[in-house]
Amino acid sequence: MQKQRALIVGGSLGGLLAANLFRAIGWDVQVFERASDDLESRGAGIGLNDQLFDVFKRVGVTVDDSLGVVPKSRTCFDPLGKVLVEYKRGKVLSSWGRVYRSLKDTLPRENYHFGKTLSDFSQSGGRVLARFADGSRAEGDLLVGADGIRSTVRSHILPAVQPRYAGYIAWRGIIDESAMSPELHAAIFERNIICLPEGEMMSGYPVPGPSNDVRPGFRSYNLVWYHPVTEANLRDLCTDATGHCHGNSIAPQLIRPELIADMRALARRVLAPYCASFIEQIPKPFFQAIYDLQSPTLVVGRAVLMGDAAFVARPHVGMGVTKAALDAECLVDELSASGASIESALAGYDTQQREFGEGVVARARWIGAHLEAQNKPRELRTHAELHPDLQEFMHASGASLNEVPVLLQLVVARRARAQQRRLAT
Ligand SMILES: Cc1cc2nc3c(=O)[nH]c(=O)nc-3n(C[C@H](O)[C@H](O)[C@H](O)COP(=O)(O)OP(=O)(O)OC[C@H]3O[C@@H](n4cnc5c(N)ncnc54)[C@H](O)[C@@H]3O)c2cc1C
Repeated sequence: MQKQRALIVGGSLGGLLAANLFRAIGWDVQVFERASDDLESRGAGIGLNDQLFDVFKRVGVTVDDSLGVVPKSRTCFDPLGKVLVEYKRGKVLSSWGRVYRSLKDTLPRENYHFGKTLSDFSQSGGRVLARFADGSRAEGDLLVGADGIRSTVRSHILPAVQPRYAGYIAWRGIIDESAMSPELHAAIFERNIICLPEGEMMSGYPVPGPSNDVRPGFRSYNLVWYHPVTEANLRDLCTDATGHCHGNSIAPQLIRPELIADMRALARRVLAPYCASFIEQIPKPFFQAIYDLQSPTLVVGRAVLMGDAAFVARPHVGMGVTKAALDAECLVDELSASGASIESALAGYDTQQREFGEGVVARARWIGAHLEAQNKPRELRTHAELHPDLQEFMHASGASLNEVPVLLQLVVARRARAQQRRLAT
């Protein structure tokens, strides 16, 4: 019997997780990635969860200490640098490149195609025909849109669904451990630091270094500083020195030097000295606008959305990759359930992962509400928006999935149902 075939659009972490899982249930799988070469250089800090490790093990990715770095504490500094709250919490923090390498190396080369940009697709009679910008085509039983926040697959099936700007950006940067001054290293390196002046939020944590090295002396430190910016000012930030506006994002090398100087000056005024000093030492700061995205359905015919193409939660929950893994896991579990037609499997996927995705997005919005509120006049902000509860914030932001019962429960229940079905066959 001919194998069923999944066409996966997008070869980042979500697409790779799905591809490896589809292979594990015996499907033929083809990944189409628009980039022309390995994507390794992008991305910085990625929080990993036990539920993601479960999926790694299922597809044969080794889970060991080389995956990431675990900070010794979570520490909140006040603007003068005094420790306000500190507690032990160990979440594994990795880098995009480290996770990508493991997943990519697990997938046979012939299943992954670079330089393939999906332009459109059609479906009929339970088959999908995908067309690519280079004129090539591919046919399969299922089209999986793992093509991120600006998904082409989603734009065809749900054109009205668009990312919504959250009203703030994240300035980001990374410094090699060896390049940090000894004082700064001693003060922050082993810590996941938080700084929460009014209307701002900065977080920093250790991650694997260049070449994904996790040995002491060879690691890096990653910083994310959330800062409110109106939509009009975002366009100014995305305008280069020639006056050309690049939309809502801009390549790091095109950010105007005076904007970086302004950002560093603001850091000195509002952030704890350690945080400002870190920002001073970042060689190439860049920023990303923060968005929410919520899809009302994840399935139209044989086209399926997963990962960031389906839902994007603000990074405060640190769950993007785990959510993509759980989407992929649910999809293959539904498809491999005995006796299930593809249609009923997809309906099961839609119901379960929509509920999970909505829950993750809602939680991230709640954590970031005080940042979003900064674009309102001060007198219209609620007490919680002006003064977020520090303890509550420290526990919620970046918590592992095990610490969020309402979401964990959904995963545990879904996995138990899948297990029961496996045992019944
Ligand atoms: C500031 C910030 C911090 C973050 N921190 C964390 C964190 O701590 N933990 C965490 O888990 N997640 C974090 N994330 C989110 C995480 O990076 C993503 O959620 C995760 O990578 C899953 O994304 P994806 O694979 O679905 O999509 P993406 O990674 O966006 O990949 C989409 C892929 O599709 C390709 N593509 C797009 N269009 C086409 C097309 N037409 N044809 C072919 N290919 C196409 C793209 O080139 C890309 O490779 C963070 C995000 C941000 C912005």
